Amino acid sequence: MSTVAAEIPTTMQAWQVVQPGPVETTTPVEFVQLPVPTPAAGEILVRVLACGVCRTDLHVSEGDLPVHRDHVTPGHEVVGAVAALGDGVTGFELGDRVGVAWLRHTCGQCKYCLSGDENLCPNSRYTGWDAPGGYAEYTTVPAAFAYALPDGYSDIELAPLLCAGIIGYRSLKRAALPEGGVLGIYGFGGSAHLTAQVALAQGARVHVLTRDEQSRQLALDLGCASAAGAYDAPPEPLDSAILFAPVGDLVPVAMRALDRGGTLACAGIYLSDIPELHYEADLFYEKQLRSVTSNTRGDAREFLAFAGAHHLDVDAHPYALADGLQALRDLKAGAFAGAAVLVPDH
Ligand SMILES: [Zn+2]
Ligand SMILES: [Zn+2]
Repeated sequence: MSTVAAEIPTTMQAWQVVQPGPVETTTPVEFVQLPVPTPAAGEILVRVLACGVCRTDLHVSEGDLPVHRDHVTPGHEVVGAVAALGDGVTGFELGDRVGVAWLRHTCGQCKYCLSGDENLCPNSRYTGWDAPGGYAEYTTVPAAFAYALPDGYSDIELAPLLCAGIIGYRSLKRAALPEGGVLGIYGFGGSAHLTAQVALAQGARVHVLTRDEQSRQLALDLGCASAAGAYDAPPEPLDSAILFAPVGDLVPVAMRALDRGGTLACAGIYLSDIPELHYEADLFYEKQLRSVTSNTRGDAREFLAFAGAHHLDVDAHPYALADGLQALRDLKAGAFAGAAVLVPDH
């Protein structure tokens, strides 16, 4: 380490995935005491101020995603303060507020990296899956993958922007929404409620389709044109749709709701199996079905700049860091609309 803030302790509290399994019936994560990590060359040590609870953390904790690192600390929506700089880090000062997101490493040499599609890099690594994340008092991040954050938001409000916001933003791009077009959003949690606001700010008409009553109300409060059940037909054909709910059964439902030439983007890293599609009803007339895989750093910077220019209402629910398991359980149970955020008690 070349530069260190004076008051860094030697140990910290953190969550680890010990035995992936259902959060409501087992204890897949444990709250433990760990050494505070030391940033390697090119890395920043971040004192965590807030860390969002993303559905992907649930997939990592429950084993829907394969284990990439034993006893990993989840969390990839980290807002923190720079506490120490590893050798060779430039562009950041001690105390700067920085963001740590899901994408943590790309090779920079493969054909995807070289063509601007680093989200498809086969050598990519991810925060809170391949490396310890932000359900902790401290974490590290390669400086090349840390983000400057916009003003005008609290730490708790910023956290959900770092995955929910960024992935939603990429999903909206992948959904190819025409200017002034009609967008359908299936599922309305942390990512969707931010994406809806981006689409509305861009002049879209937005219809929300979700099973949860509270989320439907939130959608209407944010200015969406309608909110109905997930399997209901929207009031008009959709130019574009984004599937945020990890429910493959909704793919044919959403494809049928598309107008001719419409595009459905599946936003999640995990989706239950998609049932049979029928060519004429679901895909003909040049409808498109697309996935969304992570994001590039360019997407992240673009979105954070958008959030700086257009204030987004972030529906954040703070939890003490020690209540991380409860936050995962509440997320799974759909106990709140919006996003849970863990706050360490430094
Ligand atoms: Zn690459
Ligand atoms: Zn995420």
